[in-house]
Amino acid sequence: MRPKEKNGISGWYSILTSRLNWLSFNGSRIDSRRMGGGSAEAYEILRNHHIKITRTIEAFHTLACPVDCSGVCCHFPPGEISVQIEAALAAPIREHLIRCNLKPEDYIQKVLWSLMPVNVVSALPKELFVFRENADEMVWQVKATGAKMPHKSGDSIPRTCDGHELWVDSKSRACAFLDSRSLCMLQEANLKPAACRDFVCVAYAVHSVTKQLGYLSEDDLKGLGFAERNRLASNLMDAFVSDELMRLETEYHDSIVRLTDAYLLDENMDSTLRDFKAQEEKYILRRRRLFRRVIDPGPLDYLAQLLSWRR
Ligand code: SF4
Ligand code: SF4
Repeated sequence: MRPKEKNGISGWYSILTSRLNWLSFNGSRIDSRRMGGGSAEAYEILRNHHIKITRTIEAFHTLACPVDCSGVCCHFPPGEISVQIEAALAAPIREHLIRCNLKPEDYIQKVLWSLMPVNVVSALPKELFVFRENADEMVWQVKATGAKMPHKSGDSIPRTCDGHELWVDSKSRACAFLDSRSLCMLQEANLKPAACRDFVCVAYAVHSVTKQLGYLSEDDLKGLGFAERNRLASNLMDAFVSDELMRLETEYHDSIVRLTDAYLLDENMDSTLRDFKAQEEKYILRRRRLFRRVIDPGPLDYLAQLLSWRR
């Protein structure tokens, strides 16, 4: 059984980035206020929070996916979806292939820009991808001529971080650059297209962020196959998109903003610090409970998960 389409974690992520932006924007004022005799306690809280939130966001953006799913995201329905290559990267890729005694035409192909699907055209910065060949506007893309999809469907197919189903279907084939060990041949040569460098699916990203938050460890994942890891990631997504987490994050965000303001203006420091600590305690306790329910569910939590999948 598979959960229906879910929202992504972008809502939660945007609250975090706005908090990081707020702290970064006020960073130099926070430092100079401390030098001017501002509260040492508030300074430490704001500084530590800045570091913590930076690490959480970095965990989301870690580039190398270490999860063994046979590279599902490197499979495409032939002729329908592919990865476009930045125009400036095409020549180094071709040279790399020739150095490896491989034929570039087996790996990449030129396609008319006008034949690209509308969503690709609107998402790609044209100036980086399109090149002219005679009168035509062209773009390079990878060929999907490798092995057939290793997994048919179900729990072994991760979702994108936006919560969408991955583009694969049972007829999909591997990108020509995916080798027999399910590794990208362009990875070591540092020639991966931007779309591949930037892509993370929930099976990896959600685990990585949850580990950074301290709710998941390698021990929790030990012995789990990819399908089980993916199911856990899908359930963790429920926590990330829940109204409860959104409410907690929003309240916590507001209390950080109030603390920053009070600290910078040196106003009501004692009562603001007291309120902040109470808010933080509530935030941490409830957030931990929320994630625990997913990672280590009791019988009622199982039932709730089952019902949410059927909905
Ligand atoms: S990003 Fe996701 S789909 Fe792609 S290889 Fe990693 S785990 Fe598999
Ligand atoms: S270029 Fe590499 S990372 Fe990108 S789809 Fe192909 S095998 Fe995967």
